Amino acid sequence: MIKNTEAAVLYETNSDLVVENLNLAAPGPKEVFVQMGAAGVCHSDVHVISGQANQIMPCVLGHEGAGLVTSIGKEVNNVSVGDHVVLSWLPYCGKCYQCVRGKTHLCKAYQTPVGNGTLLDGSCRFSNSEGPVRQLGSLGCWSENVVVPEVCCVPVDKSIPFEIAALLGCAVTTGVGAVLNRAKVQNGETVVVIGAGGVGLSVVMAAKLKGASQVICIDQNISARNLAIELGATDFLVSKQNEDISKKLMELTGVGADHVFEAVGKRELQSDAIDYCCSGGTVTFVGLDSEDATINLKTTAITRAEKTISGSIYGSACTHRDFALYGEKFLEGKLPIDLMVNRRYQLREINIALRDMLEGKPGRGVIVFDH
Ligand SMILES: [Zn+2]
Ligand SMILES: [Zn+2]
Repeated sequence: MIKNTEAAVLYETNSDLVVENLNLAAPGPKEVFVQMGAAGVCHSDVHVISGQANQIMPCVLGHEGAGLVTSIGKEVNNVSVGDHVVLSWLPYCGKCYQCVRGKTHLCKAYQTPVGNGTLLDGSCRFSNSEGPVRQLGSLGCWSENVVVPEVCCVPVDKSIPFEIAALLGCAVTTGVGAVLNRAKVQNGETVVVIGAGGVGLSVVMAAKLKGASQVICIDQNISARNLAIELGATDFLVSKQNEDISKKLMELTGVGADHVFEAVGKRELQSDAIDYCCSGGTVTFVGLDSEDATINLKTTAITRAEKTISGSIYGSACTHRDFALYGEKFLEGKLPIDLMVNRRYQLREINIALRDMLEGKPGRGVIVFDH
């Protein structure tokens, strides 16, 4: 049975999204119908709109969301009607080399359909009178309802509000996981975070959780200062042109930071991050610049100072373990994700939500769905 659903569709780069009614086909085998509860507004969506990230269009955007399972297709074994699920844009097969060694976030099994914005069989469930409509990351969370692959659904505790659960699907897991799984920040270490958006603030929360002695947040916009401090930052530096942030960081830390996280995705800032960390320290790139981005490395300095430069995708997380874990930490009051959600919008306000984020309004904007 085909349903009607309201969704936000991108038809061409650098244009507003069009909120319109689409047809949504019933879930096929190993597919799940999800009534969306909430969906976050993330910078990665902006990268699709700007064309920095390639996406075949038309396409329903939104890749950070959670909702209620209302029906399932055949051969669905791990998700049931009535489950609350967080949607993952990085499903894994469980069988390949990376999955078997526990690095499910590096699984490439579903890279092609997820990148193309289709279901796993290469076809689309959304359509309009012109033809099929794709769904970003095999998800398309900016829609009242979605049909997604079962492997993208992670059931979580039903007492987690949807607007919190939604953030587990991208920003929170990306930031918190980078600290816990990748950098493995230890009690008493010093942490610098470049970027105070949803991911950067999640790094701040996790650094506090791990007992970091200093958590220094850097952003070009002062608007996120109070929120960053509330979430656990000990200092907030506003980066202005020609200002020597390195000097300020040396004054604050004495030797540079044990850990520096770049959560913006700009090559200049990635380069700065290497300068900000102390000898023996670790830099973790969390943000994504364009595919051709490069930086110059002072290799001798890296040898002498024994710096580690690493990357982390999707918080290096095993989604089925970590969405649930970070959700539990929220319920225990140890990850105050609710403080980050400070703007709520209807789906028809999606273009306003995007503009608010680009203007630098602090915290995460969330689309909430009334059913
Ligand atoms: Zn995202
Ligand atoms: Zn795999």
